[in-house]
Amino acid sequence: MVQIITDFMEEKERREYEAKVAAELAAKKAAEEAALEAKKREEELERAKQGQDFTNPKLLHFRTVDDFAVYLSSLLPPSWFRKVAIHHTVVPTVAQWRGLPSLQAVLRYYQRLGWKSYPHLFVAPDGIWQMNNLLLRGTHANIANGFSIGIEVVGNYDNTTWAEPIYTYTLETILHLHKWRGLDSTDIVLHRDYNKTKSCPGKKITYDWIQQQLQEIKEDVVVALDKYRVKLDKSRIRQGPALAYPVAGMLYAGDIFLSAAVKRDEAGAVVNGKSEWVHVTKAIATQNQVSDLGFVHSSLVEKID
Ligand SMILES: [Zn+2]
Repeated sequence: MVQIITDFMEEKERREYEAKVAAELAAKKAAEEAALEAKKREEELERAKQGQDFTNPKLLHFRTVDDFAVYLSSLLPPSWFRKVAIHHTVVPTVAQWRGLPSLQAVLRYYQRLGWKSYPHLFVAPDGIWQMNNLLLRGTHANIANGFSIGIEVVGNYDNTTWAEPIYTYTLETILHLHKWRGLDSTDIVLHRDYNKTKSCPGKKITYDWIQQQLQEIKEDVVVALDKYRVKLDKSRIRQGPALAYPVAGMLYAGDIFLSAAVKRDEAGAVVNGKSEWVHVTKAIATQNQVSDLGFVHSSLVEKID
């Protein structure tokens, strides 16, 4: 169309017209670039708001690994993340751990060293703690900082391996991080591989040992948020995966919830032909507000798409 119109124009008009079109195109391109730049700045600002305030990073606490999995599912994994780096704190020890005050003390220690970023996660006897924004690179393992998310396992593991509940918390956290980014269980690194003067994450913690444990625990963990529908009215939610646990809440026929884990019945009991409990991670459509989440017997629910 442009070609046909310009064919009927005088030479001078044609030149003016072409200059005008070129100017309009240039202006449009500049506007698009400016919009892209503004969007980039906005995203950076958003990331900063999410806790990368160097002097005061947002410390998050997840009481269960399932809670951590729900949080992970709300974030897009960063492209630089390709390995999970394993550490130990040495101090505080498991016995010394006091939750938030302990984490704050560790943070102050790093800040006195002049660090501007930190290990990402701490696995403690009271759950999973986040110190460094998971979307941003941290400081924990020399050159491995560039491609790894760092997990500090609370305790000293030069003479002993991880004990429960830290054992399960750590392995499940690794599995969830791998699933989140589509990594393999072999995608772990040890701090001492990047700093020969350290025994971190403890002499007893070897690459092969972690691999073995991951293979064992993998069968117990459904590492994904699956959707379930409740089949029966007044299906009881219990605090743990066995009938012996107190009732934590009630679900009704048709209620829908998300789950990140299916656990074997702790007592080894088989009810209605099934011996598993589904962890109610997040209720998304229920008749009654569920306040305390817990476990519902797998025979009372059905997995849906
Ligand atoms: Zn370390």
